[in-house]
Amino acid sequence: LEPAYGFMVRVRMPGGVCTPGQWLQLDELARRYGQGSLRITTRQTFQFHGVVKRHLKATIAGINHALLNTIAACGDVNRNVVCHNNPYLSPLHGELYDWSRRLSTHLLPKTRAYHEIWLDEERVAGTPAEEEPLYGRHYLPRKFKIGIALLPHNDIDVYAQDLGFIAIADRDTLLGFNIAVGGGMGMSHNEPSTYPRLGEVIGFCRPDRLLDVAEKVLGVQRDFGDRSNRKHARLKYTLDDRGTDWFKAELETRLGWALEAARPFRFESTGDRFGWIRDGRGHWHLTLGILSGRLRDTPETSWLTGLREIAAIHEGDFRLTANQNLIIARISDAARPKIDALLDRYRIPDAERWSGLRRNALSCVALPTCGLAMAESERWLPTLLARLEPLFKNAGLEKDAITLRVTGCPNGCARPHLGEIGLVGKSLGRYNLYLGAGFDGSRLNALYREGLSEDEIVEVLSPMIAHYARERRTAESFGDFVIRAGYVSEAGRGREFQQR
Ligand code: SF4
Repeated sequence: LEPAYGFMVRVRMPGGVCTPGQWLQLDELARRYGQGSLRITTRQTFQFHGVVKRHLKATIAGINHALLNTIAACGDVNRNVVCHNNPYLSPLHGELYDWSRRLSTHLLPKTRAYHEIWLDEERVAGTPAEEEPLYGRHYLPRKFKIGIALLPHNDIDVYAQDLGFIAIADRDTLLGFNIAVGGGMGMSHNEPSTYPRLGEVIGFCRPDRLLDVAEKVLGVQRDFGDRSNRKHARLKYTLDDRGTDWFKAELETRLGWALEAARPFRFESTGDRFGWIRDGRGHWHLTLGILSGRLRDTPETSWLTGLREIAAIHEGDFRLTANQNLIIARISDAARPKIDALLDRYRIPDAERWSGLRRNALSCVALPTCGLAMAESERWLPTLLARLEPLFKNAGLEKDAITLRVTGCPNGCARPHLGEIGLVGKSLGRYNLYLGAGFDGSRLNALYREGLSEDEIVEVLSPMIAHYARERRTAESFGDFVIRAGYVSEAGRGREFQQR
């Protein structure tokens, strides 16, 4: 007998789009093999948790049957490409979604090993050893993340990506992309050589050069990234060790052409817009708020059953957001009442009624599923919100949007250092509290207090929130206020993050 090992299985789903048919098949797999729940990740895809070893092959084959796969959803390769989340609101959204798919396909490993191991593909005798044209023999030093943002929305947290593309458009015409490199959230507590870092914009490229840029950036990291120390192996460290000027020169040498100067741009927020919206073609889209992206049936809400019933009648598609929410997209006038009735029947909450804090809260999965977790995150978030929401309500700030990010360890899966309030697990029941990130995702937060309990977090934030309500300036975000009021000083781009 061997232990009943449980695995996490993650789907590759560029831009977070799936059809109702795919939804139904993933739902079936979740019920049969995945502890009866689906989880939307911060990279716009689904994770199944607790898939026991003997069900692994059937789960992956089932995903393949749904015309999806898990290739490069984990590992030292380009991960799921994230993209601004509603391709139907303008022609540009569709164009960007197409680019996210093309990027994902272009950067896929070419090996057939996945098909041989999981899908019983026959290996032809005498086949020569495989060449991996892009990744070479040893793949990348670490994972690599790409995202595409559409102004003024920074819902994919473009500065947290190894490689971020910021779409620049003239009305509905895509002109090209500003290119941001070297973002990443992960660090280790008390190891100053590790730190979260914001990507920096190094130039602009035309749309037809996007794949070339992505391939060459990835190639520079493949050849110069640190392969001796995994904690120092992301692109952000290569950039800081060698310098951005060196990186840009190396990239341009490989490209054979020079990047153009970055175009002016401005982001406004990182959150999703909830509720119903109608696009220019007359289709409805509904964005649902899903706390921590967790879809399971509970006494309060039949998430899994409700969405399965909706998928069974839905003629549009589903879009997962990088904020762990869900858009039911392309709903006709005739179908909207049927969807509304199902939302009511299964008690799906209306996020427009949520507090501003809840609408902008993210958490990673942490305990009991993640082996790296030092503290609770997803399971704790409802309790934490129930403690913090009254503070905002009492201060008259119930509907004000404030970003809250919680993780169970400093690996940063829910991008905690881009939260105006960031909580990172230190040990069971204890968290480091970070404050002062930019509401538009363009500034890291900074450490305010270490190792706080839940009670201490409430105690520390309570007067600060009242202070903010009393003395904030017009349109001043909480993150900006805590810096102006002196609670924390403004964080830099990254290297000095743990050296204060
Ligand atoms: Fe696990 Fe840490 Fe990622 Fe949370 S942030 S899911 S605890 S690795």
